[in-house]
Amino acid sequence: MKTLKDYAGDINKCSKCGLCQSVCPVYKETGNDCAVSRGKFVMLDGVLKGDLKLNKTINKYLDLCLKCGKCKDFCPSDIDVCKIFETAKYEYMKKSFHGKILWLLESKYVFSSIVKVLGRVQKLLNSGWRKHKNAVCSKASPAATVPKLVYFKGCVNNVYPEVENALKKVLSHYEVELIEKDFECCGLPFLSSGNLERFEEVKKYNLELLEGDFDYILTDCASCEDTLRDYGLHKVINIADFIAQNPKKFIFKKPVKITFHKPCHLKDIRFLQRILNMCENVEYIEMEGFDNCCGFAGEFAVKNNEISRAIGKKKAQNIVQTEAAYVLSLCPSCVLGLHQGFIANGNFKHPKIKNLIEFLALADEIN
Ligand code: SF4
Ligand code: SF4
Repeated sequence: MKTLKDYAGDINKCSKCGLCQSVCPVYKETGNDCAVSRGKFVMLDGVLKGDLKLNKTINKYLDLCLKCGKCKDFCPSDIDVCKIFETAKYEYMKKSFHGKILWLLESKYVFSSIVKVLGRVQKLLNSGWRKHKNAVCSKASPAATVPKLVYFKGCVNNVYPEVENALKKVLSHYEVELIEKDFECCGLPFLSSGNLERFEEVKKYNLELLEGDFDYILTDCASCEDTLRDYGLHKVINIADFIAQNPKKFIFKKPVKITFHKPCHLKDIRFLQRILNMCENVEYIEMEGFDNCCGFAGEFAVKNNEISRAIGKKKAQNIVQTEAAYVLSLCPSCVLGLHQGFIANGNFKHPKIKNLIEFLALADEIN
């Protein structure tokens, strides 16, 4: 595992050009230079030179980041910004008391128990109707030569199974073999909390489960997809790309207007136009700033709630302007962020928020 010192050269590559300010959602909201990568690099350079201590204040600024990666994509010096922040966070958290407590909550048995309990509470609250009653198995016979898809079911599907049910319903119209395994979390929350040891643990576990013969690792979440690519995997595909490459007709009897929020971790949205071409009676209205962050990003929404709500509020205003009946996304964290944005904007009656695959599963006919 690399240390912060190993990144000294990369930190020094920052020319202080300030271009990252023009894309950073937190900087745009706060105008605080410590929110953006340039300011963070000034502080971390001070730490490496011994002028500053890696303390609570610096950790606070490390947390002032959505891990959206927009600055990384835009940086002319090609600095792997997120890896540096994660390493600095790891070095702070491993020596801090609250780091020990948080990492205990993220340990294998505690974390998976929390997810299981949340899933059970959710089922009880919904009187069991959320059980997998819509889940339909693939119609492919085991003997047929059909694409083998290993379904990487994200943790959130254990709590809200609607997306998994919708994915299975749509895939029941395809000749595929869907393989399910007992994966752990992809590890993204552990990267955010600087728990790099736990990240390596889940990565090793998940990679062992991925040994064997298959065509694709299928996800329904842009963040899981991005993290699996970060493992070094190449055969990862999200459900929207899969459908775009394997066209069907999605016929809606009544006309419906939709808009789409692009999650920050979703790198390629060429699927959108292709899928829209497959839909009958669906009108797409692009919202202003469709690729602006929703402001949620898990623990960011807890630690920096005011800023998170302010970013989400602007998103909600842009969605409302489209007058769409549905706002679609491809990430459960964004779904929460969009809800938060509507509440912050006072839109208690708002467009329905769904994963793209949930919307496609609502089609009256799929063929
Ligand atoms: S865009 Fe890159 S080089 Fe420019 S200030 Fe930001 S981090 Fe530094
Ligand atoms: S990752 Fe996103 S929120 Fe964090 S500094 Fe870069 S642009 Fe700003």
